[in-house]
Amino acid sequence: MSKTIDKDLQSYCDSNHNRYVNELQELVAIPSISADPKYAADVRRCAQEFVARMGALGLTSEVLETDGHPIAYGEWLGAPGKPTIIVYGHYDVQPVDPLELWTSPPFEATVRDGKIFGRGTVDDKGQVLMHFAAIEAHFATRGTLPVNLKVVIEGEEEIGSPNFEAFLAKYAERLRCDLAVISDTAVFAEDVPSLTTSLRGLVHWEVRVDGPSGDLHSGYYGGVVRNPIEALCEMIAELKDSAGRVLVPGFYDGVLELTNDERSDLQALRFDEAQEAKALGVSQFAGESGRLPLERMWFRPTLECNGIWGGYQGPGAKTIIPSYAKAKLSARLVGKQDPTTVKTAVGKYLKSVAPAGVSVTVESNSDVRAVSTSRDHPAVKAAARAMEGGFGRAPVFIGTGGTIGPVSSFDRILNLPQVLIGVGLPDDAIHAPNEKFTLSQFFGGIKAIAHLYDELAEI
Ligand SMILES: [Zn+2]
Repeated sequence: MSKTIDKDLQSYCDSNHNRYVNELQELVAIPSISADPKYAADVRRCAQEFVARMGALGLTSEVLETDGHPIAYGEWLGAPGKPTIIVYGHYDVQPVDPLELWTSPPFEATVRDGKIFGRGTVDDKGQVLMHFAAIEAHFATRGTLPVNLKVVIEGEEEIGSPNFEAFLAKYAERLRCDLAVISDTAVFAEDVPSLTTSLRGLVHWEVRVDGPSGDLHSGYYGGVVRNPIEALCEMIAELKDSAGRVLVPGFYDGVLELTNDERSDLQALRFDEAQEAKALGVSQFAGESGRLPLERMWFRPTLECNGIWGGYQGPGAKTIIPSYAKAKLSARLVGKQDPTTVKTAVGKYLKSVAPAGVSVTVESNSDVRAVSTSRDHPAVKAAARAMEGGFGRAPVFIGTGGTIGPVSSFDRILNLPQVLIGVGLPDDAIHAPNEKFTLSQFFGGIKAIAHLYDELAEI
C-alpha cells in the first residue's frame, strides 16, 4: 500500500529551507508567553499572525475565542470523500527566565551549528510551521491537498490547557473528523526516528492524617498519643512491597503486558541505565524488579509520594506531637486502568492500613486516563511510512511516561484515534534557556508531514 514518494513535493520542500527558517524567526519574534498576563496582547497578536498565515496558505481561518487565550483555527475541506484530519499544535510558549543563561536573545531566533535557537523554536511554533510548509508544498506543486484539514493551534498548552476541553466540546460538530495529528513531541534520538504511540494517564491525591485536636507537648503525651506524621509514613510505606510492586488491591486491573514485539523493540533501543542514572545524580535506578527501565518509564503504572509535611519545621527544636500530617500522592496510569477505580482503591487502601488513633481523609480531583493508538492502526502505519519518507529510515515505536493534556482531551471529548508525529530531540532544552530546533529535524519533519497527508489520503 506504500505510495512512492512524490518527487515534486520532495524537491519543493528541499528548495525552500532558507525561507522556512525566516518564517520561523518571524513567529518566534512574537513573545507569546501564556503564563504571564503582561504578555496577553502578544499572545493574541500571535494567534492573529497564525490565522493570517493560514489564510495566506489558502485555508479558511479565524481566531476562535475561549475563556482564556484564543485558538488560531484554519480549515480546508476541498477533498470530498477523503479523510478529515485535525492538526494540533500550540503557539504559546514558556517564560524565558533566567534570561542571562541564553546565549542569544530568546525572541531573536538565531542559527548556530545547524540549529535554530529561540523560545518556541521546537515547542511548538517550528513544529506547527512544518504543517504550514507541507500545506504550501502541496498547493504549490499540485494546487490541492490530498486530505481535508482542520488546524487547531492552541494558546494555552504551556499553562495546562485550562479551556481546551470546553473548546472541543463547544465546537465538537465543527471539529468532526477521522483522526487527530499532533506535532508537539520528540523522537528517541537524532538517528532514531520514532513515533509515540502511548502516553500515561494521571491521578493525584492529597492525604490528611489527623491526630490530637492541637499540637501536644511530647514530654507530657509522648508514649500515649499516636503521632500523625509517623502514622502517615507507615501508611505510605505500605503502598509498595520491597520489589516495587504496588500493594493496593485492584491497582493493576487493566494494565496490559507488553507483546513480544513490543518488548524486543524496547530492548533494541539504546538506553544506558548506568549513564542515565549518573546524569540524574543517583547511584542506580530503582522500581519494579524484573522489568526493563523503558518499560517501567512508559508502560508500567507508578504510585509516588510527591510531598509530605506536618509538625514543626522552623529553626531549633520544638518538641511536639503534631496534630496533623499531609502528603501529596500521584499515580501514572497505563493501558486500560480506570482513573476512578484507581482513585477509590488507593483512598480505601490508605484508610485500611492507617494505624488506630488517627483519622484519615483522602481527596482527589483529577482523572486522566492513559491514551494509546495501536501500531497496527492504519493511520499509525501511514505515519511510519511518512517518517521514513522524511528521514530515510523507518521509525521505531516509543511511549512517553508523561501526560499531554490536549491528547487526553481529544481522546476524552472527541474520542479520536491520534497520531503523535513530532520531531524534536531529547536535548532541545524545551522550557529552558537556549531552546533549539535542529534544522535537519525541522526540514525532515516538513517532508515527513508533506508525505503524511498523501499517506493519510489512502487509509
Ligand atoms: Zn509543546
